[in-house]
Amino acid sequence: MGKLDVAILRYLTGEDFRVLTAVEMGMKNHELVPGSLVASIANLRHGGVHKLMKDLCKHRLLTYERGKQYDGYRLTNAGYDYLALKALTNRKVIASFGNQIGVGKESNIYTVADEDRNPLCLKLHRLGRTCFRNIKGKRDYHAHRNKASWLYLSRISATKEFAYMKALYDRGFPVPKPMDFNRHCVVMELVNGGPLTHVTSVEDPEPLYDELMNLIVRLGNCGVIHGDFNEFNIMIDETNHPVIIDFPQMVSTSHPNAELYFDRDVRCVREFFKKRFGYESELFPKFSDLERDDELDAEVACSGYKRSKGVEDELLQEMGIELEVSDLEDSDEDNADDEQERSTKYTDNEIEELRKEVEQSIEHDEKSALKQITAK
Ligand code: ADP
Ligand code: MG
Repeated sequence: MGKLDVAILRYLTGEDFRVLTAVEMGMKNHELVPGSLVASIANLRHGGVHKLMKDLCKHRLLTYERGKQYDGYRLTNAGYDYLALKALTNRKVIASFGNQIGVGKESNIYTVADEDRNPLCLKLHRLGRTCFRNIKGKRDYHAHRNKASWLYLSRISATKEFAYMKALYDRGFPVPKPMDFNRHCVVMELVNGGPLTHVTSVEDPEPLYDELMNLIVRLGNCGVIHGDFNEFNIMIDETNHPVIIDFPQMVSTSHPNAELYFDRDVRCVREFFKKRFGYESELFPKFSDLERDDELDAEVACSGYKRSKGVEDELLQEMGIELEVSDLEDSDEDNADDEQERSTKYTDNEIEELRKEVEQSIEHDEKSALKQITAK
């Protein structure tokens, strides 16, 4: 994968979308979703679901695989991309696709445009492809419990990123304007510039250094630490000012390791300025300097911020997974309980529930994230 086949967006119908959504729902507790189950969840008026699934396999949006106990369908990366991109185009957030402009550690970045041809940036989160390096100890547990982990981890990552970006943007931080998100995709303003790592020299490094350190402190006073404040996640725009990107790993200043993360962000900037510009300063912020004046961490329910319900808890609950926030961080604890694979037999009530979820999901895909937030 990697390349987006967006032509497909034009060919596929509402029925295809419904079938893919049904597979997505089925994957909540099935590694492979049996065709008969897809058919009953999708509940197409005129049937023909098997022909549709066959064609979706041909387009590589689904794969049909043989499992140990039964055979069934699985959503591919491209299939998941398709669902999100179709939702975002239906909502008229994006209208056309440009080039891939970046491959991050856990993402692919593209330029896109809205209906008025304004350029935008599309970030597709791809957790689990580079594999669950952050949940090492839990990997087997996840694989065992739910082989579709990549699907919901990528989605949590995108949801968190959007939530932080919005909270930061609303407070006037220099971050790209968040436009919308769906599943594992975030649409945001395209920064006119390049990452700091491409900047080979500056006339006077001091003002930029000060600006970056002030940003770290301002974030800290709001209760958050970026956690990956390096020259790849700091963009320099056309006015030579920094724009901060890449937020899924942000943590609360109440996190037990907050000081460590804070110091690491500060050190990243100091070391880069020394190495690249030969600039050193005795002035740099310390964790103890922070004076909290906002509750951004509580608002977004950052990792490390103790509250029972956060964005990710809700998402996980919605996906039927019992997982704690700390499971998304380093942990060596192994918890591979031998749970039996769920039976493939659903009761009529369960099928009815899943059908309802498909309806809700399709309806949800028509409303923008910002409208959903303001409608609350
Ligand atoms: P990852 O989480 O994979 O590191 P990033 O969000 O850091 O992804 O993005 C990877 C790269 O894509 C960045 O280093 C930057 O070059 C580019 N990029 C990301 N967001 C934008 C944006 N809004 N505008 C322009 N370029 C961007
Ligand atoms: Mg990055």
